[in-house]
Amino acid sequence: MAGRPSGGIIERYRPYLPVSPTTPIITLLEGNTPLIVSRALSQRVGRGAEVYLKYEGMNPTGSFKDRGMTVAISKAVEAKSVAVLCASTGNTSASASAYAARAGLRSIVLIPSGAVALGKLSQALIHGARVVAVDANFDACLALVKSLARQHPVTLVNSINPHRIEGQKTCAFEICDALGRAPDYQCMPVGNAGNITAQWKGYTEYHGRGRIGHRPVMLGFQAEGAAPLVKGRLVKHPRTIATAIRIGNPASWQGAVAAAEESRGAIQAVSDRQILDAYRLLAQEDGVFVEPASAASVAGLLRLAQAGYFKKARPAGRRQGPTIVCILTGHGLKDPERAIKSIRLARPLPPSLSAISKATGLKEGLSGGIIRPRP
Ligand SMILES: *Cc1c(COP(=O)(O)O)cnc(C)c1O
Repeated sequence: MAGRPSGGIIERYRPYLPVSPTTPIITLLEGNTPLIVSRALSQRVGRGAEVYLKYEGMNPTGSFKDRGMTVAISKAVEAKSVAVLCASTGNTSASASAYAARAGLRSIVLIPSGAVALGKLSQALIHGARVVAVDANFDACLALVKSLARQHPVTLVNSINPHRIEGQKTCAFEICDALGRAPDYQCMPVGNAGNITAQWKGYTEYHGRGRIGHRPVMLGFQAEGAAPLVKGRLVKHPRTIATAIRIGNPASWQGAVAAAEESRGAIQAVSDRQILDAYRLLAQEDGVFVEPASAASVAGLLRLAQAGYFKKARPAGRRQGPTIVCILTGHGLKDPERAIKSIRLARPLPPSLSAISKATGLKEGLSGGIIRPRP
């Protein structure tokens, strides 16, 4: 197979996607992201479990949103749309503005004022989106763009656009193609719930076509302060440090519930503290830097493991433990301020060799380690 680089997700999974030979393909070669074994997490879960990290932060704009956006923007161009519109906690706008720039479309994004991580905002701005900060939360922004899309000739590219869901299901395809089977469990963060809906659809389609013998148990995690699916009711003022899942009225509510029920999985809540612990653990023990929302999948995995959830996961006669995939939805560099806030950074020192050998820990033989979480 040498010589020919693989295309984006549309080229690789064309028969599963709503494109025809005449659809213009707008791609940044999204997808084909690494599936990395996590020794730290496999050990913590125990029972012979193999935990994998699907590092979606390695997509072109740094989140899984690119999988859906390549399809949504290609279809918008095919439909002769001139502008795309979205509400965003950040990553949708970063992705929409990049793909729109590539397609020569205008992009308009509504963001909740003060609630979008710096990296994401910088992306939308530099790609030339018209960014409108609204003094309201994401749910209100989504309601506004829905009304705007009804009144004006623009294409809405939030995940209520079915082409987004179609593209995002390719993450499940890649996991199955890499493992040679479906995982036994999949852990993922849930915000607007488009992604869990999409991935369940992906597993179901692969199963339907006989590509896999079983589908995984789907485990979705919301932040405690933004957990409408866990509580069974809307959350008016969602709160969490994980801005990508700070959503109180998920658009794909039914899809998330169906994924959890049909797979005998669950949607559960994790605290911000658990999210930040998982965030640091991924960075410091696996070398994988994610944004806080992505760490919700690992926080959830560890919570369930501690509660003995995977005890029943090794059926009699099977030597291997369960295969578990955690979706790491976005890159850590999206939200550098959070990383810096999470770790104690010492004051600058004068350039003195003895002071610096002490401060680096080299003087004491690195006994205390260098990086410490804030108390
Ligand atoms: C969008 C996003 C989510 C949430 O996905 P939904 O489809 O809204 O449930 C989680 N993490 C990151 C990094 C995101 O960008």
